[in-house]
Amino acid sequence: MTFQELNLSESIIKALTEEGYTKPTPIQEEAIPIVLRKKDLLGCAQTGTGKTAAFSLPIIEHLLKDEPSGGYKHIRALILTPTRELAAQIDESISAYTRYTGIKHDVIFGGVSQHTQTLALRNGTDILIATPGRLLDLMNQGYVHIAHLQYFVLDEADRMLDMGFINDIKKIIRELPEERQTLFFSATMPPTIAKLADSLLTDPERVEI
Ligand code: AMP
Repeated sequence: MTFQELNLSESIIKALTEEGYTKPTPIQEEAIPIVLRKKDLLGCAQTGTGKTAAFSLPIIEHLLKDEPSGGYKHIRALILTPTRELAAQIDESISAYTRYTGIKHDVIFGGVSQHTQTLALRNGTDILIATPGRLLDLMNQGYVHIAHLQYFVLDEADRMLDMGFINDIKKIIRELPEERQTLFFSATMPPTIAKLADSLLTDPERVEI
């Protein structure tokens, strides 16, 4: 299978070719068509499988096709991930994938001054990659509004719980709009994670790699 056959736009495929991606990985082959159909997704997958592109590429494709909503300062897609390293990695990948699209993205994480992050957010962004603590801080200070987003990704849910982020996650989830597409990833699926997934997803399709 090719990325063309997955119905991604030329502006995305050009960037993938430059990255040296010649064909989709198994999780990309499975997940991209599901996400393009606007279905919720429950993904059991580890890092290293090509998971980031599996959720990012179809979201970028949606953002290219969607009518821009009037409030351009509203975030359109939110990707929550547990650590600063993962956030930075996802941001780097999305930089590459969006290179020819005009889609904007920003990353926020804790452990550094929030000043540069809030300055960047002032110009508006389409895709926000965030760790839970810093996102909540900036939401509480009014720098980030998630009430109008259309796409929500919860990455490495099991690690989020292990790291004690459950209360932060619950507070963030409360602010999400009802109407949205949700992609939920976890390497393992113990009962607490399954319950969290159940509360977030509507009639999801499952992908296991
Ligand atoms: P991830 O599982 O998202 O952390 O991706 C693992 C690594 O595989 C990253 O360095 C990606 O850039 C790379 N990668 C993802 N998808 C592909 C692909 N289809 N072809 C080649 N490399 C890829």
